[in-house]
Amino acid sequence: MSLLAVRDLFVAFGGIRALDAASFTAEAGAITALIGPNGAGKTTLVNCVTGMVRPGSGNVTFDGRDITGMAAHRLPRLGLARTFQHLRVFGSMSLLENVMVGLHGHVRTGMLSSMLRLPGVRRTERAMRDAALQALDFTGLADRADEAAGLLPYGDQKRLVLARALVGDPRMILLDEPVAGLNPAETHEMGGLILALRARGVAVLLIEHDMSLVMRVSDAVVVLCSGAKIAEGAPGEVKRNPEVVNAYLGGG
Ligand code: ATP
Repeated sequence: MSLLAVRDLFVAFGGIRALDAASFTAEAGAITALIGPNGAGKTTLVNCVTGMVRPGSGNVTFDGRDITGMAAHRLPRLGLARTFQHLRVFGSMSLLENVMVGLHGHVRTGMLSSMLRLPGVRRTERAMRDAALQALDFTGLADRADEAAGLLPYGDQKRLVLARALVGDPRMILLDEPVAGLNPAETHEMGGLILALRARGVAVLLIEHDMSLVMRVSDAVVVLCSGAKIAEGAPGEVKRNPEVVNAYLGGG
């Protein structure tokens, strides 16, 4: 059974069909890239998966459970986390506090404390700090945990939001354009982090325009065009697909 399955999603904004029978699956522990030209429907699809847009029809299952239209704040508890194109960093808060925000959905349900068998508010706070520090350490930012996030360079803010997605120990992270705006060295580093997520057993759904990154890290690539899937397969296969070259890769 696939970890994430999207079936026959239709979404219309007024007269515009953003998704038109879009379907795909993503496997546990794998990196699946979702690519396609501007306006193909990638963001709308991710917003359907994460409860921010309710599809007109179709459904989304995660780990076998129907999550279609489920409120966004309930998803981290089920093991599904995401980042956003616009980073949503809280500039006046510390890096540590920004990452602890990622535990909000867990703490509200008391899951973290029961998971760690640490009853009591103080101990829960300690467990949250430790989890946030570990996530910051994963992204190489632990030594700046107490600095204000707003002072971080953009590339470091992109790693910070990855730490925030990781902190609740998700089974899958949806990364919305993780290398947009990064220089080549930062892009390479982010590619390494994405591979490190997979090595930890975290599945990644990668929405990205940087084709060299997509081809380097992905296990499977899904191509959307005009709201529907036009191809899927291993990166090398998709790269050679004439329909994909025509619609998106422009002969590359
Ligand atoms: P990009 O790569 O540029 O981010 P995308 O593949 O993510 O594009 P979407 O942003 O999902 O594509 O857009 C799909 C279509 O739906 C586009 O035609 C877009 O103009 C339209 N659309 C998306 N969101 C809305 C909205 N809130 N209201 C009206 N139209 C929308």
